[in-house]
Amino acid sequence: MKRIDLHTHTTASDGKCSPKENVMLAEERGLQAIAITDHDTVGGIQEALQAAEHLSVEVIPGIEVSTLIEGTEIHVLGYFIDFENEAFNSELAKLRKTRNLRNEMMVEKLQELGIEITIEEVKAKQKKKGGNVGRPHIAEVLMEKGIVHDLAEAFDVYLGKEGKAYVNPPRISPFEGVALIQKYGGVPVLAHPGLYDYDELIKELVEIGLKGIEVHHPDHSPEEVKKYSEMAKEFQLIATGGSDYHGKRNGVVFHGDLGSQPIEYEVIENLRAVKKS
Ligand SMILES: [Zn+2]
Ligand SMILES: [Zn+2]
Repeated sequence: MKRIDLHTHTTASDGKCSPKENVMLAEERGLQAIAITDHDTVGGIQEALQAAEHLSVEVIPGIEVSTLIEGTEIHVLGYFIDFENEAFNSELAKLRKTRNLRNEMMVEKLQELGIEITIEEVKAKQKKKGGNVGRPHIAEVLMEKGIVHDLAEAFDVYLGKEGKAYVNPPRISPFEGVALIQKYGGVPVLAHPGLYDYDELIKELVEIGLKGIEVHHPDHSPEEVKKYSEMAKEFQLIATGGSDYHGKRNGVVFHGDLGSQPIEYEVIENLRAVKKS
């Protein structure tokens, strides 16, 4: 079976591989297509499209928008988004400002906990000029300083939802996230619902135009995969999936490895059909 991967991050946000490297790896692994879905940026798409020009792997332009509702961070994926639209890019720039503010707030909290860490050290982990800085970059500094052993510990103890340095400044709501994606021609898909404990939201998002749900994700248990594929049927949503590939940090893959989720090309055809309708 030929596979695709509809959820990958690059150095344009908090991935470790450049957009070109993601594409080359996908080609090497015989994937039919990969989507580039960086957090709040479309900065990696052009490079990925160019890299794929003479290869057999297809690149799907995408995004993963961070939103917030009642203290829960919800990610909304958007596929076939109009990534070259200027108005869209300036709206995204505004979202990234919040993201940066959050990094600063988390570093401050770590400092209050007695950890010597600066925002400059965190920013230095993002090597791509203009690329997004995120929690995995903070985690890298914590690992380097020997404060945590690995990424999992960094998130469990400090950066994850239950972590001591976790903060969540105001962001757009998931409803606004779906609307933003629709406004710029994208097909909105709810990312990794198994990570939220907020299933009531799915129906509400469907009512305003959600078209898909990420059923296959490395952090979903087999029971969750089953539950969300049933919900996909119930709400007539496209069941998507992806590895949430972020490359390796200290030799460890964060979320899943590229191409590791069982998704077939048909899913892209379904997304494309919705885009056209
Ligand atoms: Zn996500
Ligand atoms: Zn992601």
